[in-house]
Amino acid sequence: MSRARLYRTEGIVVRRRDQGEADRVLTLCTPSGKTDVIAKGARKVRSRKAGHVELFSCTSFVISRVTNSWDIVSQAQTVDPHERLRGELVRGAYARYAIELFEGFFAQDEGSPALYDLLRHTLRWLCEHDDCELTARFYEQHLLGLAGFRPELFRCVGNHAPPHRPHLDEQRRGGKPFGLDAERGGVLCPDCYSEWRPRQGVVALSPQALALLRELQRGPYTGLLTRPIPPAVHAEAERVMYQYITHHLERSVRSVAFLRQLRHGGAIQAGRPASGNAANP
Ligand SMILES: [Zn+2]
Repeated sequence: MSRARLYRTEGIVVRRRDQGEADRVLTLCTPSGKTDVIAKGARKVRSRKAGHVELFSCTSFVISRVTNSWDIVSQAQTVDPHERLRGELVRGAYARYAIELFEGFFAQDEGSPALYDLLRHTLRWLCEHDDCELTARFYEQHLLGLAGFRPELFRCVGNHAPPHRPHLDEQRRGGKPFGLDAERGGVLCPDCYSEWRPRQGVVALSPQALALLRELQRGPYTGLLTRPIPPAVHAEAERVMYQYITHHLERSVRSVAFLRQLRHGGAIQAGRPASGNAANP
Protein backbone atom coordinates (compact mmCIF):
# COMPACT_ATOMS: atom_id res chain seq x y z
CA MET A 1 0.00 0.00 0.00
CA SER A 2 1.41 3.41 -0.95
CA ARG A 3 1.58 6.16 1.64
CA ALA A 4 0.70 9.74 0.68
CA ARG A 5 3.82 11.87 0.46
CA LEU A 6 3.46 15.03 2.52
CA TYR A 7 5.32 18.25 1.98
CA ARG A 8 5.29 21.61 3.67
CA THR A 9 5.29 24.95 1.86
CA GLU A 10 4.30 28.55 2.29
CA GLY A 11 2.07 29.91 -0.44
CA ILE A 12 0.06 32.95 -1.47
CA VAL A 13 -3.46 32.21 -2.68
CA VAL A 14 -3.65 33.99 -6.05
CA ARG A 15 -6.84 32.40 -7.39
CA ARG A 16 -9.68 30.23 -6.08
CA ARG A 17 -12.38 28.37 -7.90
CA ASP A 18 -15.19 26.10 -6.77
CA GLN A 19 -14.91 22.42 -7.46
CA GLY A 20 -17.74 19.93 -6.98
CA GLU A 21 -20.09 20.36 -4.04
CA ALA A 22 -17.79 21.60 -1.31
CA ASP A 23 -14.20 21.84 -2.53
CA ARG A 24 -11.99 24.63 -3.77
CA VAL A 25 -9.09 24.56 -6.19
CA LEU A 26 -6.46 27.09 -5.16
CA THR A 27 -3.74 28.50 -7.37
CA LEU A 28 -0.72 29.22 -5.20
CA CYS A 29 2.44 31.22 -5.68
CA THR A 30 5.04 29.30 -3.66
CA PRO A 31 8.84 29.62 -3.40
CA SER A 32 9.14 26.62 -5.71
CA GLY A 33 6.66 27.85 -8.33
CA LYS A 34 3.05 28.33 -9.29
CA THR A 35 0.88 25.36 -8.48
CA ASP A 36 -2.78 24.26 -8.19
CA VAL A 37 -3.93 22.36 -5.11
CA ILE A 38 -7.36 21.27 -3.89
CA ALA A 39 -8.79 22.18 -0.48
CA LYS A 40 -11.37 19.50 0.24
CA GLY A 41 -14.48 20.70 2.03
CA ALA A 42 -13.24 24.31 2.09
CA ARG A 43 -16.69 25.66 1.21
CA LYS A 44 -18.44 23.93 4.09
CA VAL A 45 -19.58 26.31 6.81
CA ARG A 46 -17.70 24.45 9.53
CA SER A 47 -14.51 23.95 7.53
CA ARG A 48 -11.37 24.57 9.58
CA LYS A 49 -9.40 25.30 6.43
CA ALA A 50 -11.73 27.95 4.97
CA GLY A 51 -10.41 30.91 6.96
CA HIS A 52 -6.83 30.05 6.04
CA VAL A 53 -7.22 29.87 2.27
CA GLU A 54 -8.69 33.31 1.51
CA LEU A 55 -7.66 35.15 -1.65
CA PHE A 56 -4.33 37.05 -1.20
CA SER A 57 -3.53 35.36 2.10
CA CYS A 58 -0.07 34.02 2.79
CA THR A 59 -0.48 30.61 4.36
CA SER A 60 1.65 27.76 5.63
CA PHE A 61 0.46 24.51 4.07
CA VAL A 62 0.96 20.82 4.59
CA ILE A 63 0.08 19.18 1.27
CA SER A 64 -0.12 15.57 0.19
CA ARG A 65 1.20 14.83 -3.24
CA VAL A 66 -1.16 13.02 -5.57
CA THR A 67 -0.19 11.53 -8.91
CA ASN A 68 -2.29 12.55 -11.91
CA SER A 69 -4.51 14.93 -9.92
CA TRP A 70 -4.33 18.05 -7.79
CA ASP A 71 -2.26 17.77 -4.66
CA ILE A 72 -4.50 17.90 -1.58
CA VAL A 73 -4.29 20.50 1.20
CA SER A 74 -3.92 18.53 4.41
CA GLN A 75 -3.34 21.47 6.81
CA ALA A 76 -3.45 25.25 6.37
CA GLN A 77 -2.42 27.95 8.82
CA THR A 78 -2.48 31.66 7.95
CA VAL A 79 0.88 33.42 8.20
CA ASP A 80 -0.30 36.83 6.96
CA PRO A 81 -3.98 37.33 6.06
CA HIS A 82 -3.47 40.59 4.08
CA GLU A 83 -6.95 41.44 5.25
CA ARG A 84 -7.12 44.99 3.91
CA LEU A 85 -6.77 43.67 0.36
CA ARG A 86 -10.14 41.96 0.72
CA GLY A 87 -11.78 44.66 2.83
CA GLU A 88 -10.73 47.77 0.92
CA LEU A 89 -11.68 48.35 -2.67
CA VAL A 90 -8.65 50.34 -3.86
CA ARG A 91 -5.97 48.22 -2.17
CA GLY A 92 -7.73 45.11 -3.44
CA ALA A 93 -7.75 46.47 -7.00
CA TYR A 94 -3.98 46.99 -6.89
CA ALA A 95 -3.52 43.49 -5.46
CA ARG A 96 -5.56 42.08 -8.35
CA TYR A 97 -3.30 43.95 -10.75
CA ALA A 98 -0.19 42.44 -9.11
CA ILE A 99 -1.71 38.97 -9.33
CA GLU A 100 -2.79 39.43 -12.95
CA LEU A 101 0.77 40.28 -13.99
CA PHE A 102 2.10 37.29 -12.04
CA GLU A 103 -0.42 35.03 -13.78
CA GLY A 104 0.34 36.59 -17.17
CA PHE A 105 4.11 36.24 -17.02
CA PHE A 106 4.42 32.91 -15.21
CA ALA A 107 2.98 29.56 -16.26
CA GLN A 108 2.24 26.53 -14.11
CA ASP A 109 5.31 25.30 -12.15
CA GLU A 110 7.26 28.46 -12.98
CA GLY A 111 8.57 30.67 -10.21
CA SER A 112 11.35 31.08 -7.67
CA PRO A 113 11.94 32.10 -4.06
CA ALA A 114 12.72 35.64 -5.32
CA LEU A 115 9.38 35.87 -7.12
CA TYR A 116 7.54 34.60 -4.05
CA ASP A 117 9.30 37.19 -1.87
CA LEU A 118 8.48 39.96 -4.34
CA LEU A 119 4.78 39.11 -4.41
CA ARG A 120 4.62 38.66 -0.66
CA HIS A 121 6.34 41.98 0.01
CA THR A 122 4.15 43.74 -2.56
CA LEU A 123 0.92 42.53 -0.92
CA ARG A 124 2.27 43.56 2.48
CA TRP A 125 3.21 47.04 1.19
CA LEU A 126 -0.25 47.42 -0.37
CA CYS A 127 -1.69 46.78 3.10
CA GLU A 128 0.71 49.04 4.99
CA HIS A 129 1.45 51.99 2.72
CA ASP A 130 -0.96 54.41 1.08
CA ASP A 131 1.20 54.99 -1.99
CA CYS A 132 -0.23 52.05 -3.92
CA GLU A 133 0.90 53.55 -7.22
CA LEU A 134 4.53 53.53 -6.13
CA THR A 135 4.18 49.92 -4.96
CA ALA A 136 2.69 48.93 -8.33
CA ARG A 137 5.52 50.62 -10.27
CA PHE A 138 8.19 49.01 -8.09
CA TYR A 139 6.57 45.61 -8.49
CA GLU A 140 6.40 45.95 -12.28
CA GLN A 141 10.13 46.63 -12.64
CA HIS A 142 11.12 43.70 -10.44
CA LEU A 143 8.54 41.28 -11.81
CA LEU A 144 9.69 42.04 -15.36
CA GLY A 145 13.26 41.38 -14.26
CA LEU A 146 12.34 37.96 -12.87
CA ALA A 147 10.30 37.14 -15.99
CA GLY A 148 13.27 37.94 -18.27
CA PHE A 149 11.80 41.20 -19.64
CA ARG A 150 13.71 43.72 -17.54
CA PRO A 151 13.73 47.02 -19.44
CA GLU A 152 17.27 48.24 -20.18
CA LEU A 153 17.24 51.78 -18.78
CA PHE A 154 20.92 52.54 -18.42
CA ARG A 155 22.14 52.33 -22.01
CA CYS A 156 20.46 53.09 -25.32
CA VAL A 157 19.05 49.99 -27.02
CA GLY A 158 19.59 51.63 -30.44
CA ASN A 159 22.47 50.67 -32.70
CA HIS A 160 25.53 52.07 -30.98
CA ALA A 161 29.00 50.62 -30.95
CA PRO A 162 30.28 50.84 -28.29
CA PRO A 163 27.06 50.95 -26.19
CA HIS A 164 25.89 54.47 -25.48
CA ARG A 165 24.64 55.65 -22.09
CA PRO A 166 21.85 58.20 -22.47
CA HIS A 167 22.56 61.12 -20.18
CA LEU A 168 19.88 62.71 -18.02
CA ASP A 169 21.65 66.07 -18.08
CA GLU A 170 19.53 68.76 -19.84
CA GLN A 171 22.52 70.34 -21.62
CA ARG A 172 23.97 67.13 -22.95
CA ARG A 173 20.71 65.85 -24.42
CA GLY A 174 19.69 69.28 -25.74
CA GLY A 175 16.29 69.17 -23.97
CA LYS A 176 15.00 66.44 -26.30
CA PRO A 177 12.91 63.52 -24.98
CA PHE A 178 14.07 59.94 -24.63
CA GLY A 179 12.06 57.02 -25.92
CA LEU A 180 11.02 53.65 -24.55
CA ASP A 181 11.08 50.88 -27.13
CA ALA A 182 9.14 47.80 -26.01
CA GLU A 183 10.33 45.65 -28.92
CA ARG A 184 14.02 46.31 -28.30
CA GLY A 185 13.40 46.20 -24.56
CA GLY A 186 14.62 49.51 -23.22
CA VAL A 187 15.39 53.19 -23.43
CA LEU A 188 16.32 55.09 -26.60
CA CYS A 189 18.61 58.12 -26.48
CA PRO A 190 17.05 61.32 -27.95
CA ASP A 191 18.78 60.73 -31.33
CA CYS A 192 17.54 57.15 -31.68
CA TYR A 193 14.10 58.18 -30.46
CA SER A 194 13.72 60.87 -33.13
CA GLU A 195 14.75 58.29 -35.73
CA TRP A 196 12.43 55.50 -34.53
CA ARG A 197 9.46 57.30 -33.05
CA PRO A 198 7.03 56.26 -35.83
CA ARG A 199 7.61 52.57 -35.07
CA GLN A 200 5.11 50.52 -33.16
CA GLY A 201 5.89 50.08 -29.48
CA VAL A 202 8.02 53.25 -29.29
CA VAL A 203 6.83 56.00 -26.93
CA ALA A 204 8.32 59.26 -25.66
CA LEU A 205 9.85 59.26 -22.19
CA SER A 206 10.68 62.39 -20.20
CA PRO A 207 13.98 62.54 -18.28
CA GLN A 208 12.00 62.74 -15.01
CA ALA A 209 10.08 59.54 -15.75
CA LEU A 210 13.27 57.79 -16.89
CA ALA A 211 14.97 58.82 -13.64
CA LEU A 212 12.02 57.41 -11.66
CA LEU A 213 12.08 54.09 -13.56
CA ARG A 214 15.82 53.81 -12.94
CA GLU A 215 15.33 54.41 -9.23
CA LEU A 216 12.58 51.79 -9.12
CA GLN A 217 14.88 49.25 -10.73
CA ARG A 218 17.74 50.05 -8.37
CA GLY A 219 15.56 50.01 -5.24
CA PRO A 220 15.24 49.51 -2.37
CA TYR A 221 11.51 50.16 -1.99
CA THR A 222 11.87 51.84 1.40
CA GLY A 223 14.28 54.41 -0.06
CA LEU A 224 11.63 55.53 -2.55
CA LEU A 225 8.92 56.08 0.05
CA THR A 226 10.54 59.19 1.45
CA ARG A 227 10.90 60.98 -1.87
CA PRO A 228 7.91 62.95 -3.23
CA ILE A 229 7.15 62.08 -6.86
CA PRO A 230 5.14 64.62 -8.92
CA PRO A 231 1.78 63.14 -10.02
CA ALA A 232 2.52 63.89 -13.71
CA VAL A 233 5.74 61.84 -13.53
CA HIS A 234 3.87 59.01 -11.85
CA ALA A 235 1.16 59.11 -14.51
CA GLU A 236 3.73 59.02 -17.30
CA ALA A 237 5.64 56.11 -15.72
CA GLU A 238 2.36 54.22 -15.42
CA ARG A 239 1.44 54.90 -19.07
CA VAL A 240 4.76 53.88 -20.59
CA MET A 241 5.04 50.77 -18.44
CA TYR A 242 1.50 49.72 -19.35
CA GLN A 243 2.46 49.99 -22.99
CA TYR A 244 5.67 48.01 -22.38
CA ILE A 245 3.91 45.30 -20.36
CA THR A 246 0.98 44.79 -22.76
CA HIS A 247 3.43 44.58 -25.66
CA HIS A 248 5.20 41.65 -23.99
CA LEU A 249 2.04 40.01 -22.65
CA GLU A 250 0.47 40.42 -26.12
CA ARG A 251 -2.83 41.37 -24.53
CA SER A 252 -4.43 44.03 -22.35
CA VAL A 253 -4.53 43.83 -18.55
CA ARG A 254 -8.12 43.68 -17.28
CA SER A 255 -7.47 44.98 -13.78
CA VAL A 256 -6.02 48.21 -15.21
CA ALA A 257 -9.41 49.15 -16.65
CA PHE A 258 -10.88 48.85 -13.15
CA LEU A 259 -8.07 50.92 -11.62
CA ARG A 260 -8.77 53.61 -14.21
CA GLN A 261 -12.48 53.58 -13.31
CA LEU A 262 -11.59 54.02 -9.64
CA ARG A 263 -9.35 56.94 -10.53
CA HIS A 264 -12.00 58.65 -12.64
CA GLY A 265 -14.56 58.08 -9.90
CA GLY A 266 -12.26 59.72 -7.33
CA ALA A 267 -11.65 56.58 -5.22
CA ILE A 268 -7.94 56.87 -6.07
CA GLN A 269 -6.33 60.27 -5.65
CA ALA A 270 -2.64 60.84 -6.39
CA GLY A 271 -2.09 57.08 -6.46
CA ARG A 272 -3.59 56.57 -2.99
CA PRO A 273 -6.94 55.35 -1.68
CA ALA A 274 -9.04 58.49 -1.16
CA SER A 275 -10.06 58.99 2.47
CA GLY A 276 -13.61 57.89 3.27
CA ASN A 277 -13.46 55.37 0.47
CA ALA A 278 -12.03 52.43 2.30
CA ALA A 279 -15.00 50.12 2.45
CA ASN A 280 -15.55 47.41 -0.09
CA PRO A 281 -19.20 47.74 -1.25
ZN1 LIG B 1 20.75 55.78 -29.16
